[in-house]
Amino acid sequence: DSLFSGVPTAPVDPILGVSMAYKQDTSPQKVDISVGAYRDGDGKPYVLKCVFEAEKRLLGAPKEYLPIDGIPEFNKLSAKLLYGDAMNGKEKRMVTVQTLSGTGALRIGVIFIRKYLPAGTTVYISRPSWANHHNICKESGVPSAEYTYYDPQTKGLNFQGMMNDIKNAPSGSVFVLHLCAHNPTGVDPTPEQWNQIAQLMKEKRHIPFMDCAYQGYASGDLDRDAYSARLFLNSGFEMFSAQSFSKNFGLYGERTGALTIVTHNEKYIPAMLSQLKMDIRAMYSSPPTHGARLVQTVLSDPQLTKLWVDELKVMSGRIKDVRKKLMDAIVQRKVPGTWNHIVDQIGMFTYTGLNPQQVEILVKKYHIYLLASGRVSLAGLNDNNINYVADAIADAVA
Ligand code: PMP
Repeated sequence: DSLFSGVPTAPVDPILGVSMAYKQDTSPQKVDISVGAYRDGDGKPYVLKCVFEAEKRLLGAPKEYLPIDGIPEFNKLSAKLLYGDAMNGKEKRMVTVQTLSGTGALRIGVIFIRKYLPAGTTVYISRPSWANHHNICKESGVPSAEYTYYDPQTKGLNFQGMMNDIKNAPSGSVFVLHLCAHNPTGVDPTPEQWNQIAQLMKEKRHIPFMDCAYQGYASGDLDRDAYSARLFLNSGFEMFSAQSFSKNFGLYGERTGALTIVTHNEKYIPAMLSQLKMDIRAMYSSPPTHGARLVQTVLSDPQLTKLWVDELKVMSGRIKDVRKKLMDAIVQRKVPGTWNHIVDQIGMFTYTGLNPQQVEILVKKYHIYLLASGRVSLAGLNDNNINYVADAIADAVA
């Protein structure tokens, strides 16, 4: 009876599905610790002061189309923010395009991989990872595979397993690496482990694709959080990076990000840029104006930059504080198991180790919404709900 009668229903996104269920719940006790968006100590969404100030300055700014590859100054500032001192003249061998946030940067980058890296080049994604990594590869027609990352026993990094998988992947594979604050586990390699990863990747001629969604959000220090990307750049890799300004600038819905590709020889840059622009033109013509202007305004004004850096410290500091409080509250209730991983992990999430049955108790009985994998977004916790959540965990684990 319809052209569309054969359209099957797609599975609900595991993250956005939980968030939808939360919105529909009418319980006054409900708690949302599913989606990775910052909330302040009162559980409210937060507009950064530096963004608010930039927004005032931008009132009435023109709404004309941007160039296909975005605002040139924004692109420069984005690459500089990520690669910092490691740039050191290498900017000539880099091409940056403004993208629809981190997702858009990944998508454009993966399409570039399909078109211009050898056929069959596989994109390796950590197990587990942000679920959209696999979606993006699949929808872009690029084969993806997993590499070992998380160790459920230690709730830390399975470093040996990761190294083995890097060694066993065919030479010239792409590895998606989380710059810092790994989503969903909160487990990052140490600087020494990064050094070994970079060395082995070099030997194997693998290609790093840095997914940079939380720079400044892990340690509160922009340079420290960028260690891995700068290491790879200094080690002479040809590489990709996808930057998102959703979390560190709180610009979620403004869709603000950048894709940078580094090559060995600047003579290839004009052709690469021309192809990136072709893809963007055919997909959405040109990127949105507002978010990139906000980031540009903050990053090109030392006072606003300082305000931003201070706010990053406040946000990441609050999350660290919440980690400690949650762990203490759980330990205080003598919940079986070890819980130090909550403070050892870093970034917006903790991978609690709660199993799907225990998560279901939290959701059904306590109206506490988290991912079935046991991932908790710590930003949703505050002094008003930590004890309630700890009570619920104690009940679910008992
Ligand atoms: N990569 C990772 C690991 C993420 O956690 C996110 C945000 N959830 C993104 C990329 C991209 O998000 P956005 O498109 O909002 O920048």
